[in-house]
Amino acid sequence: MPARNILVVNCGSSSIKFALVNEDHEQFSLNVIVERLGGADAQMHWQQDGKQQSLMLPHADHSVALAHVFPLVQAAADGQLHGIGHRVVHGGEHFTAACRLDHAAIAGIRAIAPLAPLHNPANLQGIEAAITLFPSLPQVAVFDTAFHQTLPEHAYRYALPTPLYSEHGVRRYGFHGTSHRFVSQRAAAMTGLPVNASSWLVAHLGNGCSTCAIVNGQSRDTSMGLTPLEGVVMGTRSGDVDPNLHSHLARTLGWSLEQIETMLNKESGLLGLSGLSNDMRTLEQAREQGHAGATLAIEVFCYRLAKSLAAMSCALPHLDGLIFTGGIGENSPLVRSKTIAHLKLFNLAIDEQANARTVRGAAGSIQAQGYPRLLVVPTNEERQIALDTLALLDA
Ligand code: ADP
Repeated sequence: MPARNILVVNCGSSSIKFALVNEDHEQFSLNVIVERLGGADAQMHWQQDGKQQSLMLPHADHSVALAHVFPLVQAAADGQLHGIGHRVVHGGEHFTAACRLDHAAIAGIRAIAPLAPLHNPANLQGIEAAITLFPSLPQVAVFDTAFHQTLPEHAYRYALPTPLYSEHGVRRYGFHGTSHRFVSQRAAAMTGLPVNASSWLVAHLGNGCSTCAIVNGQSRDTSMGLTPLEGVVMGTRSGDVDPNLHSHLARTLGWSLEQIETMLNKESGLLGLSGLSNDMRTLEQAREQGHAGATLAIEVFCYRLAKSLAAMSCALPHLDGLIFTGGIGENSPLVRSKTIAHLKLFNLAIDEQANARTVRGAAGSIQAQGYPRLLVVPTNEERQIALDTLALLDA
């Protein structure tokens, strides 16, 4: 059987990303992003065979974007597209794994939308447009939350009155599950340990950041909660704050819920602390030049990350390795080194030369000789979504 092609769709409210994944090739045959959907300046950018191209698509919505992308995909796949895998942010408690998209699954995703009002409706727009355009292709949903459905109750419950959980679904769900799963399986392969007999801590550090404890291939705890705001410091998200902050700001400054939500999600984190940028590269350069805000942002980021990893260790029977991934985790020796420096009680130590050279897509060990494993493992959520889609096609 020739190697199969899967189109991976990651649909946000104002942008859609596409990757055409061939099961036999690490490199994607085609990458497309359509930005500013609905706006007069909507644009499509695509990369194929190392060439970058762009097209204006004024006022394009999700369906128009997909209709433009489809011919590119068909050409890149030589007319041989075997399925579509959709990233869906929230699967609630209902979806514990990827599933084929039928009427019942779509209704299930819609029912969970109150838990992810910004994300699930956008994901559904992409799904519905894709099903209308390609009714005969098998389509699959892969959920960011599904991997964390193995959390034990003592890890997923908040200490809140029980009816908030039982009647309204208020609990910790966790996100980035596709990435945590992918890198922990890669780490097992890299070290020759069986997935089902290994224990990992993972720090996924991109624009969003989260930590995870993974035992025998299952998530046992994670830093994100009901929403992707809980946990460690992120690009523009605050991570954990005192839950009384909302009422404090409302009472003392008269802020509305919308203002507080915008501040915590879009104006905080590295951006809020530094007053400069949400981008770690920019902050590292500014720190080199003595920028106080950038220096503080990096210090808080690393300290809070180390604290979260230490907390996650409560879920592990032993540690086979700590994995760094995501744009920052894969490329910032500074963040890795500073974070490990806060974890001396765990007997962790870094080899600074290995740390410095393990960047830009390289995978490998960066611990000092004789110390517990520290791994850098590039994530690949699109590939994992394609693999999950293929597994369901085979089932
Ligand atoms: P997303 O969560 O949007 O997928 P990424 O995983 O691409 O984001 O991560 C983006 C982050 O990675 C940004 O903060 C960016 O500055 C950081 N990053 C990328 N390359 C480097 C680098 N060489 N050094 C430090 N940080 C980097």
